[in-house]
Amino acid sequence: MIFFFGRYRFSPRRYGFRNEFCTHCNASRRVESTVTSDFLHLFWIPLIPIGDHETWSCTTCGKAPHGIQRTRYSFKIAGLLLLAFGSFAIWFTPIEPGDEAIAWVMRLALPVGLVATAFHLVRIRSKQSTRVASSDAEPTTDTSCPYCEVPLLDQPDWHCGSCGVRRL
Ligand SMILES: [Zn+2]
Ligand SMILES: [Zn+2]
Repeated sequence: MIFFFGRYRFSPRRYGFRNEFCTHCNASRRVESTVTSDFLHLFWIPLIPIGDHETWSCTTCGKAPHGIQRTRYSFKIAGLLLLAFGSFAIWFTPIEPGDEAIAWVMRLALPVGLVATAFHLVRIRSKQSTRVASSDAEPTTDTSCPYCEVPLLDQPDWHCGSCGVRRL
């Protein structure tokens, strides 16, 4: 099942940076967030958008500082509902002659996707409760972009006019 059904991460883009306490380095570090648009795929055909996923990593050790993974929930819930609807619909749709193979794959894969998405939601929810307090980190005071080395603009929020990264 796992070979043809899973999650696709599209177009990773750097979203922002800030200082955060890295539990791996045991120090205040610059962390950056990368946003991907995730889809559930079947046979590598993206089927269901499950929303933008934000991943944080420490720019020193490259690992995810514990407890600051965030996901936009509403999109995930929408994906869950779509999967639930799809799972029911596919079981109540008569199978056309000649389509037996794909129909049965969908009948099995959609409920598996539904369960996997539900588990995933529970997992990230429990992760969120272990958020590390930002007060352990030095304040983010950069006035130039750490990637482009040009001065940051402070309107409407701190951001880089060159690469668009935000100081969070
Ligand atoms: Zn680190
Ligand atoms: Zn920049």
